[in-house]
Amino acid sequence: MPELPEVEAVVRRLRDRITGARIQHAKVFRCAPAELVEALPGRRILAVERRAKHILIRLSGGLTLHTHLRMTGNLFAIPDARLHTERARVVIALQGGTGIVFEDSRALGRMTLRGTQELDNELAASLGPEPLGAEFSAEAFAAMARGSRQPAKLFLMDQRKVAGLGNIYVAEALFRARIDPRKAMGRLSRPRLAALHKEIVTVLQDAVESAWIAYGVPGRFSEGESFDCQVYGREGQPCTRCGKEIRRLPQGGRSTYFCAGCQR
Ligand SMILES: [Zn+2]
Repeated sequence: MPELPEVEAVVRRLRDRITGARIQHAKVFRCAPAELVEALPGRRILAVERRAKHILIRLSGGLTLHTHLRMTGNLFAIPDARLHTERARVVIALQGGTGIVFEDSRALGRMTLRGTQELDNELAASLGPEPLGAEFSAEAFAAMARGSRQPAKLFLMDQRKVAGLGNIYVAEALFRARIDPRKAMGRLSRPRLAALHKEIVTVLQDAVESAWIAYGVPGRFSEGESFDCQVYGREGQPCTRCGKEIRRLPQGGRSTYFCAGCQR
């Protein structure tokens, strides 16, 4: 599943190419609401934003085209709207002939048209602060952690605590901060929480960089493929820091990768 950095890379590239454009028409091929065909033409694209892993294309008339890529989705601009592949679920043609394509081989992602205000209220109610936003400060993070008995891994995966963090980058941030994923958040000292906060931000910034480079050409999309993981997916291999074997354990129904030698 694309995680926050991959979605951020998709959003930045789209933003450069489609902001300000007016929509000419839309074609819906499969698994997307037919209302797009009627409702999109004539609207101007005001902005392209990201909230957690949600892609928000702000349109004139108080509407937002809301896309979630889920497992295999991809959203990108093409120079000629007529020249899309047969994997396209939705093609939106823009004035001047360019286009936006929503591809999704497994059709698990979704694209819907929503009232901007209603959607923003919904997202605000279900999502915590953006880890790359100004509101995600070390102080706010420590305040959330105070008294929490949740294991660090599950705390960080909780979208109401920090929005958009997923399995890969949680594992990598905990490794960089040398924190055992099973450790209760409320039991981490203030300096260790500050270190974890810093590593969450830097691991995401690094991952946005590598995702930005990897998705320069639209194509196959997969999580963290461009990122040099130190623990994620490395079960049985030696830790790059202490040499002990990387372990995997189930937490909240997902695999957690960590080094029991240097994460405490
Ligand atoms: Zn280690």
